[in-house]
Amino acid sequence: MLILDGSYGEGGGQILRTALTLSLLTGRSFRLVNIRAGRPRPGLRPQHLACVLGAARLSGAEVEGAEKGSREIVFRPRAPRPGAYTLEIGTAGATSLLFQTLYLPLAQAGGGRLILRGGTHVPQSPCFHYLAEVFWPLVETMGLSGRLTLRKYGFYPRGGGEILAEIGPARELRGLDLGAPLRPEVTRVFSFVTADLPEHIRRRQASRAEKLLREAGLSVEVRLEKAPSASPGTFVGVVGQEDFRRAGVFALGARGKPAEKVAEEAVGPYLQIMERASSVDQYLADQLLLPAALAKGLTRFRTPAVTRHLLTNAWVIRQFLPEVKIEIQGAEGEPGEVM
Ligand code: ATP
Repeated sequence: MLILDGSYGEGGGQILRTALTLSLLTGRSFRLVNIRAGRPRPGLRPQHLACVLGAARLSGAEVEGAEKGSREIVFRPRAPRPGAYTLEIGTAGATSLLFQTLYLPLAQAGGGRLILRGGTHVPQSPCFHYLAEVFWPLVETMGLSGRLTLRKYGFYPRGGGEILAEIGPARELRGLDLGAPLRPEVTRVFSFVTADLPEHIRRRQASRAEKLLREAGLSVEVRLEKAPSASPGTFVGVVGQEDFRRAGVFALGARGKPAEKVAEEAVGPYLQIMERASSVDQYLADQLLLPAALAKGLTRFRTPAVTRHLLTNAWVIRQFLPEVKIEIQGAEGEPGEVM
């Protein structure tokens, strides 16, 4: 049994999620102690508990310590089974993170459907649009197939969102060479408000983002969206594309935050990707590491910032897959190259 210390590095929920995925993929049991020790409210929160229970359902695993607040779990997996799974987080916890925990084992098992209920656009996690527009297309390029559908928006605090993920059987994953800096042929701007919010927010978000991107010399396409939701919410997303290559940044609105500020929070880090001659955004860097570690052939990319999430995820992967070589060049907080 592998013993993992959840206080390592970032000390957050990602250690647990990556461990669950790799345990399902390798069949290796693990004990995780000090769960989310680096966080103000440590232990399993509803989003993390949903990942433990979801991983257990997929595989009929035996689990100890699967309770809210738990700081230690033992997870003994069996082989994941294909099929349809409906999983509820019960709060606005991120459905994207639950998805990222389960898509690889489900694909490896032969594919299936995930209906995930909870938050779809919530802070400190990939929002649905990031998943669908940036993360998943790159994973598909690596060899997986599937379709992600947003059935209902779920903003903080009420959640109530729903996504459907239809995942095909895994073929062999291929490495991704993103060694050259991204030079987007087109930059797409998403400006969204829930139906209960005034129209001017959506327009102001979009026009601020468009102006800043055009000033930087980029070619821009704007998409305005509006939909009902249980909680009010807004976001701005900026996604750059160059053939199959992509990177993007999404920022969420909040009460009292001007529409223009939301646009700047997305555009600023997006432009930094190009300023720092990078090929992915800093979030993709930690999220691509896991499929890359399982792929045949080298993956290579340049990130605008080596984050603690990236370093920590590399550490968890090395615990389960010591034979996989992960090289990260660059100091924390600085631009870096991963291969
Ligand atoms: P915690 O334990 O911090 O409460 P958590 O379980 O939500 O957190 P973290 O360990 O912080 O998880 O991992 C969050 C994940 O969400 C990381 O993979 C990170 O890259 C991703 N992420 C955070 N913000 C964004 C964003 N704006 N866009 C895309 N991905 C994001």
